[in-house]
Amino acid sequence: MASSITGGCLCGAVRYEFSGEPVFSLLCHCRDCQRQSGSAYAAAVRVPAASFRVTSGEPKRYIKSGDSGNQVTRAFCPECGCMLFLQVSARPDLVGIRVGTLDDPSWFRPEADIFVKSAQPWDHMNPDIPKYDTYPPGKAYEPSA
Ligand SMILES: [Zn+2]
Ligand SMILES: [Zn+2]
Repeated sequence: MASSITGGCLCGAVRYEFSGEPVFSLLCHCRDCQRQSGSAYAAAVRVPAASFRVTSGEPKRYIKSGDSGNQVTRAFCPECGCMLFLQVSARPDLVGIRVGTLDDPSWFRPEADIFVKSAQPWDHMNPDIPKYDTYPPGKAYEPSA
């Protein structure tokens, strides 16, 4: 993907862009994503951190330990509260962007439903997308070799 992909928060104070190819497109049903998003799951794309930058505003960061023991840093707009992206301590080379914050989220094609062990009974998932109790093989946040 040569051209930049842009996005931002609800009020427009925080804007970002990236140019790298997404490395994983997912729908996460973990409780933290449910609570944080206020919904059944979070749609996210992981992109190389090297290709990602905040172009305006300064997101506030909230750090919480995940299931894996990793520190998960969630970045959100201090003005409107919109969750924008996250980073996990084991993989500082990746940024997980919330798809709904993209200026054009329509190209997103989820590869997997993850953490379906905590999926909600009222959430009807697409049967054509593979489901994983936690992470698919090779997609957990572990230090890259
Ligand atoms: Zn905002
Ligand atoms: Zn999650």
